[in-house]
Amino acid sequence: MIIGIVGGGQLARMLALAGIPLGMKFIILDPAEDACAAPLGEHLCGEYDDTELLKIMADKCDVVTYEFENVPATSIAFLSQSIEVFPSEHSLATTNDRLLEKAMLNELKIPTVPIADIQSEDDLNKAVNNIGLPAILKTRTMGYDGKGQFKIKQLDDVKKAWQELGGVPLILEGFANFKREVSIIAVRGHDGETRFYPLSENIHQDGILKIAYSRPDDAMQSKAEVYAKRILDKFKYVGVMALELFDTGDELLANEMAPRVHNSAHWTIEGAVTSQFENHLRAIARLPLGNTAANGYVKMTNYIGEIPEKKELLATSGLHLHDYNKKARPGRKVGHSTQWSNHKLD
Ligand code: AMP
Repeated sequence: MIIGIVGGGQLARMLALAGIPLGMKFIILDPAEDACAAPLGEHLCGEYDDTELLKIMADKCDVVTYEFENVPATSIAFLSQSIEVFPSEHSLATTNDRLLEKAMLNELKIPTVPIADIQSEDDLNKAVNNIGLPAILKTRTMGYDGKGQFKIKQLDDVKKAWQELGGVPLILEGFANFKREVSIIAVRGHDGETRFYPLSENIHQDGILKIAYSRPDDAMQSKAEVYAKRILDKFKYVGVMALELFDTGDELLANEMAPRVHNSAHWTIEGAVTSQFENHLRAIARLPLGNTAANGYVKMTNYIGEIPEKKELLATSGLHLHDYNKKARPGRKVGHSTQWSNHKLD
Protein backbone atom coordinates (compact mmCIF):
# COMPACT_ATOMS: atom_id res chain seq x y z
CA MET A 1 0.00 0.00 0.00
CA ILE A 2 1.31 3.46 -0.91
CA ILE A 3 0.49 6.34 1.43
CA GLY A 4 0.81 9.98 0.38
CA ILE A 5 1.71 12.52 3.04
CA VAL A 6 1.40 16.25 2.46
CA GLY A 7 4.22 17.72 4.55
CA GLY A 8 7.59 16.15 5.22
CA GLY A 9 8.49 17.16 8.77
CA GLN A 10 8.94 15.04 11.87
CA LEU A 11 5.32 13.90 12.03
CA ALA A 12 5.56 12.53 8.47
CA ARG A 13 8.90 10.97 9.38
CA MET A 14 7.42 9.16 12.39
CA LEU A 15 4.39 8.07 10.34
CA ALA A 16 6.72 6.53 7.76
CA LEU A 17 8.84 4.90 10.46
CA ALA A 18 5.66 3.29 11.83
CA GLY A 19 4.33 2.22 8.42
CA ILE A 20 7.46 0.66 6.93
CA PRO A 21 7.23 -2.45 9.18
CA LEU A 22 3.63 -2.90 7.95
CA GLY A 23 4.94 -3.02 4.37
CA MET A 24 3.70 0.45 3.50
CA LYS A 25 5.47 2.80 1.13
CA PHE A 26 5.38 6.59 1.29
CA ILE A 27 5.26 9.49 -1.12
CA ILE A 28 5.99 12.78 0.61
CA LEU A 29 5.23 16.27 -0.70
CA ASP A 30 7.36 19.02 0.80
CA PRO A 31 9.06 22.11 -0.66
CA ALA A 32 12.24 21.69 1.43
CA GLU A 33 14.98 19.70 -0.27
CA ASP A 34 16.18 18.51 3.14
CA ALA A 35 12.68 17.67 4.52
CA CYS A 36 13.37 15.26 7.37
CA ALA A 37 10.81 12.65 6.19
CA ALA A 38 12.18 12.66 2.63
CA PRO A 39 14.75 9.85 3.11
CA LEU A 40 11.92 7.49 4.11
CA GLY A 41 10.00 7.59 0.87
CA GLU A 42 9.73 9.15 -2.57
CA HIS A 43 10.10 12.89 -2.17
CA LEU A 44 7.99 15.16 -4.35
CA CYS A 45 9.91 18.39 -3.86
CA GLY A 46 7.63 21.38 -4.47
CA GLU A 47 4.94 23.63 -3.06
CA TYR A 48 1.87 22.20 -1.33
CA ASP A 49 -0.37 23.61 -4.05
CA ASP A 50 1.71 22.40 -7.02
CA THR A 51 -1.00 20.66 -9.05
CA GLU A 52 1.52 18.68 -11.14
CA LEU A 53 2.96 17.12 -7.98
CA LEU A 54 -0.47 16.66 -6.38
CA LYS A 55 -1.54 14.79 -9.52
CA ILE A 56 1.49 12.48 -9.30
CA MET A 57 0.60 11.85 -5.64
CA ALA A 58 -3.03 11.07 -6.48
CA ASP A 59 -2.02 8.75 -9.36
CA LYS A 60 0.55 6.77 -7.41
CA CYS A 61 -0.94 6.53 -3.91
CA ASP A 62 -3.76 4.43 -2.44
CA VAL A 63 -4.70 7.03 0.17
CA VAL A 64 -3.45 10.47 1.23
CA THR A 65 -3.05 12.13 4.62
CA TYR A 66 -1.29 15.26 5.88
CA GLU A 67 0.91 16.15 8.81
CA PHE A 68 -0.16 19.75 9.49
CA GLU A 69 -3.48 21.56 9.46
CA ASN A 70 -2.48 24.55 7.36
CA VAL A 71 -2.37 22.53 4.13
CA PRO A 72 -4.05 24.72 1.46
CA ALA A 73 -7.74 23.75 1.33
CA THR A 74 -7.49 23.92 -2.48
CA SER A 75 -4.85 21.16 -2.44
CA ILE A 76 -7.00 18.84 -0.34
CA ALA A 77 -10.01 19.59 -2.61
CA PHE A 78 -7.87 18.89 -5.70
CA LEU A 79 -6.60 15.58 -4.32
CA SER A 80 -10.07 14.57 -3.11
CA GLN A 81 -11.38 14.59 -6.69
CA SER A 82 -9.37 11.48 -7.49
CA ILE A 83 -8.22 9.89 -4.23
CA GLU A 84 -9.40 9.44 -0.64
CA VAL A 85 -7.88 11.98 1.77
CA PHE A 86 -8.14 11.50 5.55
CA PRO A 87 -9.01 13.31 7.76
CA SER A 88 -11.65 14.95 5.57
CA GLU A 89 -11.66 18.49 4.14
CA HIS A 90 -14.57 19.29 6.45
CA SER A 91 -12.74 18.61 9.71
CA LEU A 92 -9.72 20.54 8.43
CA ALA A 93 -11.69 23.71 7.63
CA THR A 94 -13.11 23.95 11.15
CA THR A 95 -9.84 23.39 12.96
CA ASN A 96 -8.04 26.01 10.87
CA ASP A 97 -10.10 28.78 12.40
CA ARG A 98 -10.08 29.22 16.18
CA LEU A 99 -13.49 30.91 16.19
CA LEU A 100 -15.24 28.24 14.07
CA GLU A 101 -13.48 25.58 16.13
CA LYS A 102 -14.63 26.93 19.51
CA ALA A 103 -18.14 27.55 18.14
CA MET A 104 -18.22 23.90 16.99
CA LEU A 105 -17.02 22.73 20.43
CA ASN A 106 -19.70 24.76 22.18
CA GLU A 107 -22.34 23.41 19.78
CA LEU A 108 -21.27 19.90 20.85
CA LYS A 109 -21.66 20.98 24.50
CA ILE A 110 -17.92 20.75 25.08
CA PRO A 111 -17.00 23.55 27.50
CA THR A 112 -14.43 26.22 26.49
CA VAL A 113 -13.36 29.60 27.85
CA PRO A 114 -15.74 32.44 26.86
CA ILE A 115 -15.02 33.74 23.34
CA ALA A 116 -15.82 36.76 21.16
CA ASP A 117 -15.45 37.48 17.44
CA ILE A 118 -13.23 40.57 17.05
CA GLN A 119 -13.37 42.55 13.82
CA SER A 120 -12.67 46.07 15.10
CA GLU A 121 -11.12 47.91 18.03
CA ASP A 122 -14.65 48.67 19.17
CA ASP A 123 -15.47 44.93 19.21
CA LEU A 124 -12.34 44.40 21.30
CA ASN A 125 -13.27 47.04 23.88
CA LYS A 126 -16.79 45.61 24.22
CA ALA A 127 -15.52 42.03 24.47
CA VAL A 128 -12.95 42.94 27.14
CA ASN A 129 -15.83 44.49 29.07
CA ASN A 130 -17.96 41.35 28.76
CA ILE A 131 -15.32 38.68 29.22
CA GLY A 132 -13.11 40.52 31.75
CA LEU A 133 -9.33 40.47 32.20
CA PRO A 134 -6.96 38.79 31.87
CA ALA A 135 -7.90 37.64 28.37
CA ILE A 136 -6.00 36.48 25.30
CA LEU A 137 -6.35 38.05 21.87
CA LYS A 138 -5.50 35.53 19.14
CA THR A 139 -5.45 35.48 15.36
CA ARG A 140 -8.24 33.20 14.13
CA THR A 141 -6.03 31.42 11.60
CA MET A 142 -2.38 30.45 11.13
CA GLY A 143 -1.60 30.50 14.86
CA TYR A 144 0.34 27.68 16.50
CA ASP A 145 2.71 27.16 19.43
CA GLY A 146 1.59 30.43 21.04
CA LYS A 147 2.27 32.54 17.92
CA GLY A 148 -0.20 35.32 16.96
CA GLN A 149 -1.32 35.80 20.58
CA PHE A 150 -1.38 38.74 22.97
CA LYS A 151 -2.23 38.35 26.65
CA ILE A 152 -4.20 41.40 27.80
CA LYS A 153 -3.53 41.76 31.51
CA GLN A 154 -4.89 45.27 32.14
CA LEU A 155 -7.01 47.86 30.34
CA ASP A 156 -3.86 49.74 29.26
CA ASP A 157 -2.85 46.71 27.15
CA VAL A 158 -5.98 46.74 25.00
CA LYS A 159 -4.77 49.37 22.52
CA LYS A 160 -1.35 47.74 22.27
CA ALA A 161 -2.94 44.34 21.61
CA TRP A 162 -5.05 45.83 18.81
CA GLN A 163 -2.04 47.62 17.30
CA GLU A 164 -0.04 44.40 17.33
CA LEU A 165 -2.65 41.99 15.95
CA GLY A 166 -5.45 44.12 14.43
CA GLY A 167 -6.08 43.93 10.67
CA VAL A 168 -6.70 40.18 10.48
CA PRO A 169 -9.68 38.21 11.86
CA LEU A 170 -9.27 37.82 15.63
CA ILE A 171 -10.83 36.05 18.59
CA LEU A 172 -10.77 37.18 22.23
CA GLU A 173 -10.65 34.35 24.75
CA GLY A 174 -11.20 34.50 28.47
CA PHE A 175 -8.17 33.35 30.45
CA ALA A 176 -8.44 29.82 31.83
CA ASN A 177 -7.20 29.41 35.39
CA PHE A 178 -6.15 25.84 34.85
CA LYS A 179 -4.34 23.47 37.20
CA ARG A 180 -2.68 21.63 34.33
CA GLU A 181 -2.91 21.13 30.58
CA VAL A 182 -3.81 17.72 29.21
CA SER A 183 -4.60 16.26 25.82
CA ILE A 184 -6.51 13.25 24.66
CA ILE A 185 -5.48 11.47 21.50
CA ALA A 186 -8.11 9.31 19.84
CA VAL A 187 -8.35 7.23 16.70
CA ARG A 188 -11.45 6.39 14.67
CA GLY A 189 -11.64 3.83 11.89
CA HIS A 190 -13.81 3.74 8.75
CA ASP A 191 -16.35 1.58 10.54
CA GLY A 192 -16.73 4.09 13.38
CA GLU A 193 -14.73 2.09 15.90
CA THR A 194 -13.05 4.53 18.27
CA ARG A 195 -10.14 4.05 20.66
CA PHE A 196 -8.49 6.46 23.08
CA TYR A 197 -4.98 6.77 24.44
CA PRO A 198 -4.40 7.48 28.13
CA LEU A 199 -4.25 11.25 28.75
CA SER A 200 -1.06 13.20 28.20
CA GLU A 201 -0.19 15.88 30.76
CA ASN A 202 1.60 18.70 29.00
CA ILE A 203 4.08 21.34 30.14
CA HIS A 204 4.69 24.29 27.80
CA GLN A 205 7.62 26.69 27.67
CA ASP A 206 7.20 29.96 25.77
CA GLY A 207 4.02 28.57 24.18
CA ILE A 208 5.80 25.44 22.88
CA LEU A 209 5.28 21.94 24.27
CA LYS A 210 8.35 20.99 26.30
CA ILE A 211 7.34 17.91 28.30
CA ALA A 212 4.48 15.41 28.07
CA TYR A 213 3.79 12.68 30.61
CA SER A 214 1.63 9.67 29.86
CA ARG A 215 -1.05 9.51 32.55
CA PRO A 216 -2.64 6.06 32.59
CA ASP A 217 -5.65 5.83 34.94
CA ASP A 218 -6.12 9.61 35.20
CA ALA A 219 -9.28 10.79 36.98
CA MET A 220 -10.19 13.00 33.96
CA GLN A 221 -9.83 10.20 31.36
CA SER A 222 -13.48 9.34 30.90
CA LYS A 223 -14.61 12.98 30.67
CA ALA A 224 -11.97 13.67 28.01
CA GLU A 225 -13.06 10.56 26.08
CA VAL A 226 -16.69 11.69 26.06
CA TYR A 227 -15.71 15.09 24.61
CA ALA A 228 -13.32 13.64 22.02
CA LYS A 229 -15.91 11.11 20.86
CA ARG A 230 -18.47 13.84 20.19
CA ILE A 231 -16.01 15.50 17.79
CA LEU A 232 -14.97 12.27 16.08
CA ASP A 233 -18.57 11.24 15.50
CA LYS A 234 -19.63 14.68 14.27
CA PHE A 235 -17.05 14.59 11.48
CA LYS A 236 -17.30 10.81 10.87
CA TYR A 237 -13.60 11.23 11.41
CA VAL A 238 -11.03 8.76 10.08
CA GLY A 239 -7.56 8.74 11.61
CA VAL A 240 -5.92 10.14 14.74
CA MET A 241 -7.17 13.34 16.33
CA ALA A 242 -5.86 15.31 19.31
CA LEU A 243 -7.90 17.46 21.68
CA GLU A 244 -6.01 19.85 23.97
CA LEU A 245 -7.75 20.66 27.24
CA PHE A 246 -7.32 22.85 30.30
CA ASP A 247 -7.99 20.98 33.55
CA THR A 248 -9.48 23.45 36.04
CA GLY A 249 -9.82 20.83 38.78
CA ASP A 250 -13.49 19.97 38.30
CA GLU A 251 -13.95 20.56 34.55
CA LEU A 252 -12.07 20.20 31.30
CA LEU A 253 -12.15 23.21 28.97
CA ALA A 254 -11.29 22.42 25.35
CA ASN A 255 -8.58 24.68 23.92
CA GLU A 256 -8.06 23.29 20.45
CA MET A 257 -8.17 20.16 18.35
CA ALA A 258 -5.64 18.97 15.81
CA PRO A 259 -6.74 16.76 12.91
CA ARG A 260 -3.54 14.75 12.96
CA VAL A 261 -1.01 12.90 15.05
CA HIS A 262 0.18 15.12 17.90
CA ASN A 263 3.39 16.04 19.66
CA SER A 264 1.91 15.33 23.10
CA ALA A 265 1.50 11.65 22.18
CA HIS A 266 4.99 10.92 20.88
CA TRP A 267 5.36 8.88 24.07
CA THR A 268 3.04 6.28 22.50
CA ILE A 269 5.95 5.03 20.33
CA GLU A 270 7.58 3.38 23.33
CA GLY A 271 4.81 3.75 25.92
CA ALA A 272 1.74 2.22 24.26
CA VAL A 273 1.01 -1.14 22.68
CA THR A 274 0.38 0.56 19.31
CA SER A 275 1.76 4.04 18.61
CA GLN A 276 -0.43 6.95 17.49
CA PHE A 277 1.48 6.89 14.17
CA GLU A 278 0.73 3.23 13.46
CA ASN A 279 -2.90 3.65 14.48
CA HIS A 280 -3.35 6.64 12.18
CA LEU A 281 -2.04 4.56 9.28
CA ARG A 282 -4.17 1.56 10.26
CA ALA A 283 -7.26 3.79 10.33
CA ILE A 284 -6.73 5.46 6.96
CA ALA A 285 -5.69 2.16 5.35
CA ARG A 286 -8.87 0.36 6.53
CA LEU A 287 -6.86 -2.01 8.75
CA PRO A 288 -7.97 -3.10 12.24
CA LEU A 289 -7.09 -0.54 14.92
CA GLY A 290 -4.33 -1.43 17.39
CA ASN A 291 -4.42 -1.57 21.18
CA THR A 292 -3.99 1.94 22.67
CA ALA A 293 -3.19 0.80 26.23
CA ALA A 294 -0.09 2.20 27.97
CA ASN A 295 2.62 -0.30 28.83
CA GLY A 296 4.12 1.71 31.70
CA TYR A 297 4.76 5.40 32.38
CA VAL A 298 6.63 7.70 30.05
CA LYS A 299 8.05 11.22 30.18
CA MET A 300 8.60 12.77 26.76
CA THR A 301 10.97 15.74 26.44
CA ASN A 302 11.04 17.89 23.33
CA TYR A 303 14.37 19.24 22.13
CA ILE A 304 13.83 22.75 20.88
CA GLY A 305 16.60 24.51 18.96
CA GLU A 306 19.17 21.76 19.40
CA ILE A 307 19.68 18.27 20.80
CA PRO A 308 21.79 18.06 23.98
CA GLU A 309 24.94 15.95 24.15
CA LYS A 310 23.94 12.63 22.60
CA LYS A 311 26.39 10.45 24.48
CA GLU A 312 25.03 11.67 27.81
CA LEU A 313 21.45 11.14 26.74
CA LEU A 314 22.08 7.65 25.48
CA ALA A 315 23.92 6.73 28.68
CA THR A 316 20.61 7.18 30.55
CA SER A 317 18.94 3.86 31.20
CA GLY A 318 15.47 3.54 29.66
CA LEU A 319 15.88 6.61 27.44
CA HIS A 320 14.94 6.53 23.76
CA LEU A 321 16.24 9.29 21.51
CA HIS A 322 14.49 10.53 18.38
CA ASP A 323 16.73 12.82 16.33
CA TYR A 324 14.69 14.27 13.47
CA ASN A 325 17.85 15.08 11.51
CA LYS A 326 16.86 18.72 11.22
CA LYS A 327 19.28 21.65 11.21
CA ALA A 328 19.56 23.31 14.64
CA ARG A 329 17.62 26.59 14.74
CA PRO A 330 16.18 28.55 17.70
CA GLY A 331 12.54 27.63 18.40
CA ARG A 332 12.60 24.63 16.04
CA LYS A 333 11.61 21.16 17.29
CA VAL A 334 14.64 19.08 16.32
CA GLY A 335 14.10 15.91 18.34
CA HIS A 336 12.63 14.36 21.45
CA SER A 337 13.38 11.66 23.97
CA THR A 338 11.20 9.36 25.99
CA GLN A 339 12.05 8.04 29.40
CA TRP A 340 10.19 4.84 30.26
CA SER A 341 9.40 3.79 33.82
CA ASN A 342 7.28 1.21 35.65
CA HIS A 343 6.02 3.84 38.10
CA LYS A 344 4.35 7.26 37.78
CA LEU A 345 6.79 10.02 36.76
CA ASP A 346 6.94 13.71 37.79
P1 AMP B 1 -2.65 27.72 21.70
O1 AMP B 1 -1.82 28.26 20.57
O2 AMP B 1 -4.06 28.17 21.70
O3 AMP B 1 -2.51 26.24 21.84
O4 AMP B 1 -2.00 28.32 23.03
C1 AMP B 1 -0.68 28.00 23.46
C2 AMP B 1 -0.63 27.97 24.98
O5 AMP B 1 -1.04 29.25 25.52
C3 AMP B 1 -1.60 26.97 25.61
O6 AMP B 1 -1.06 25.69 25.64
C4 AMP B 1 -1.79 27.58 26.99
O7 AMP B 1 -0.67 27.30 27.82
C5 AMP B 1 -1.81 29.07 26.71
N1 AMP B 1 -3.21 29.51 26.46
C6 AMP B 1 -3.81 29.61 25.26
N2 AMP B 1 -5.09 30.04 25.39
C7 AMP B 1 -5.30 30.23 26.71
C8 AMP B 1 -6.43 30.67 27.50
N3 AMP B 1 -7.59 31.03 26.92
N4 AMP B 1 -6.28 30.72 28.84
C9 AMP B 1 -5.10 30.39 29.43
N5 AMP B 1 -4.00 29.99 28.75
C10 AMP B 1 -4.09 29.90 27.41
